[in-house]
Amino acid sequence: MTPSHFHEGQLIGVLTAQPLGRVLDYKAPEGGCFLGAFVEVPLGPRKVLGVVWQVGAGDYDYAKVRSVIRVLDVAPMRDEMRSFLTRAADYTLTPLDQMLRLATRAPGLGDAPGMRKVYRLGDAEPTRLTDARTRVIEVLRDYGGLSFTGKELADMAGVGTSVVKGLAKQGVVREEDAPRDVPYPLLDADYGGKTLTEDQEAGAAVLRDGIKAQTYGTTLLKGVTGSGKTEVYLEAVAECLRQGRQALVLLPEIALTGEFLDRVEARFGARPAEWHSGVTQTERRRVWRMIGQGDAQMVVGARSALFLPYQNLGLIVVDEEHDTSYKQEDGVLYNARDMAVLRAAGVGAQVVLASATPSLESWANVEAGKYRRLNLTSRFGDAVMPTMRAIDMRAEDLPGGKWVSPSLRVAIQDRIDKGEQSLIFLNRRGYAPVTLCRACGHQIGCDHCDARMVEHRFLKRLMCHQCGETKPMPTVCPHCEAEDRLSAVGPGVERMGEEVTELFPDARVVVLSSDLYGSARAMKAHIAEIAAGGADIIIGTQLVAKGHNFPNLTLVGVIDADLGLQGSDLRAAERTFQLMRQVAGRAGRAEKPGEALLQTYQPEHAVIQATIAGDEEAFWSAEAAERKAAGVPPYGRMAGIVLSSTNVQEVFDLGTAMARQDAPLRRIGAQVFGPAPAPIARIRGRHRVRLLVKAEKGAPLQQALADWAAQFKLRGELRMAIDIDPQSF
Ligand code: ADP
Ligand code: ZN
Repeated sequence: MTPSHFHEGQLIGVLTAQPLGRVLDYKAPEGGCFLGAFVEVPLGPRKVLGVVWQVGAGDYDYAKVRSVIRVLDVAPMRDEMRSFLTRAADYTLTPLDQMLRLATRAPGLGDAPGMRKVYRLGDAEPTRLTDARTRVIEVLRDYGGLSFTGKELADMAGVGTSVVKGLAKQGVVREEDAPRDVPYPLLDADYGGKTLTEDQEAGAAVLRDGIKAQTYGTTLLKGVTGSGKTEVYLEAVAECLRQGRQALVLLPEIALTGEFLDRVEARFGARPAEWHSGVTQTERRRVWRMIGQGDAQMVVGARSALFLPYQNLGLIVVDEEHDTSYKQEDGVLYNARDMAVLRAAGVGAQVVLASATPSLESWANVEAGKYRRLNLTSRFGDAVMPTMRAIDMRAEDLPGGKWVSPSLRVAIQDRIDKGEQSLIFLNRRGYAPVTLCRACGHQIGCDHCDARMVEHRFLKRLMCHQCGETKPMPTVCPHCEAEDRLSAVGPGVERMGEEVTELFPDARVVVLSSDLYGSARAMKAHIAEIAAGGADIIIGTQLVAKGHNFPNLTLVGVIDADLGLQGSDLRAAERTFQLMRQVAGRAGRAEKPGEALLQTYQPEHAVIQATIAGDEEAFWSAEAAERKAAGVPPYGRMAGIVLSSTNVQEVFDLGTAMARQDAPLRRIGAQVFGPAPAPIARIRGRHRVRLLVKAEKGAPLQQALADWAAQFKLRGELRMAIDIDPQSF
């Protein structure tokens, strides 16, 4: 057994976040150190962060082993976390140092907290009281002796921070220094609960029992938007609060956090900690430390919040569990949904996977008896699914370069006449996906990627959606130099905006697309304004499919329902089904039933039919049967190996060699396909080639992949990334 404490001079193995491929030996510092302690160690001329991982290997001359510089002032990493990182590394075939990097994404996490200014009520009598000043004073009186940061106080009073500073100058408000790492305000489990329905209560009871008993279990919580899923899992959060355990809620989109935080505040009387890319460095550090000390009860965040150092985790919620953004596609390739289950299983926590259109993976796990399933059927917020219908585009009379069919046009006009809103959905950002030269046929592509440049007329530029590169819109064809012959081909949301404005000149038309906003906040504010009635016709991308409520919206028109069905991806059907159902769900409420119209050239296609019928069980069964027959996830195992290099010959040569020397794979009965150009064949100047490996469900795929990959040396520019359970296959 590994000792939990090491005395001075004893050999310890320290894991750092550096790509060394091994745990290094050091001597424990003066005063010794604990297993799991965060330490600073010398590495060459540098000082780096590390974690005391194990007993030293002792394979170096003791005299030459260097000492730990210092032990950092944070809670040591728990055994559970070390074992989670190890298992996650094994599963994703990622080096342990990269996993540690994910777990230490808080700058200066071991430094003593800095100071910051806080404000409380002072003694001076206020003079020249404006409304704004009065509000600040009232807030401070309401909260007795409590102090707040200038921003908190200003937000609560609904004024600018300058008002607070002005009062501080007069001494009406007192300014003080306080340590930066203040604990989060206490959440109160019984602050604002609702009476649950029978369905909801049944689900909540199971979760509560699991949390009390500290046992692991995963529940698939299924129900359309508005059926009360959030209410159920907030009950589970409440139980965590009562039991002194921590709760994590993962959301797929930062843009949804604000609304959710308001809801948590209404339920528990205070805001939880937040963790995502929009959180400042200082705040990150605070969240990280407070979670480790148990001074944050609840975290709302993005997938990386799974790697925070929870002291006593009782619940992980994965909201919209089917969302593809849970799969990280850069760096460490992991799926947050699967990692949530892994993490929870290790600590005896409950997992809730919430969705209106669950992933086939989760559905299969329910079938296999691994997950519980809870269906919410009754509806709150009076949302109902709209009636759905296909518009057969082959029968519509539509001039070239136009996309709104006469049938859809009639339906929109009808809503305008009734004073209701319509949503036109097209999952394509920008003005037009292709810019074509009418003289020579050249299509403008990205210089670094195998992708077309997309015209963004609003930004007056061409943009590559793979690498983000932009360039000014040329007036001359870069290929044949013909002047003024470049033309836009195909629709993007901006172009739809033009067409719709032409069709309905008196209607208020808005285009909602993430790249039209400077910040998530600006976008949120605009969406709220639109929901309140600030537009007649909304044209939007996937962004509008997620979360937001438009109470007066009664029509959804999908411009190209076939878009997601093109290509050979076996998950295309599932994605299209989920997206179409989700978008359609934006329309309609009990007193104003909605309608969803899907423009399609293949109305008889099974996926379009299933979407319209809304028969999820039937869709899933059919999908499951197909995947079973093909032996692909969730009924078989897959891995993608992406090789990349600036030299195209080099990648193909290695790919071919790998496909040939596949003995380790054949030993477990796995097959290898490829090499073929990866789904994106070139990104940022690097050519990419993919091999796909397919194995049976129970096969030891990771070990075989590791043995297989170990046969090849990656020279020079070559890189290899292994993607277990790839998103597309
Ligand atoms: P979902 O997460 O499935 O979209 P929500 O939990 O957001 O659904 O519920 C939709 C609306 O109905 C919310 O405004 C919520 O407060 C309300 N609601 C849900 N359950 C209840 C309940 N048992 N009593 C009263 N209101 C409820
Ligand atoms: Zn590019």
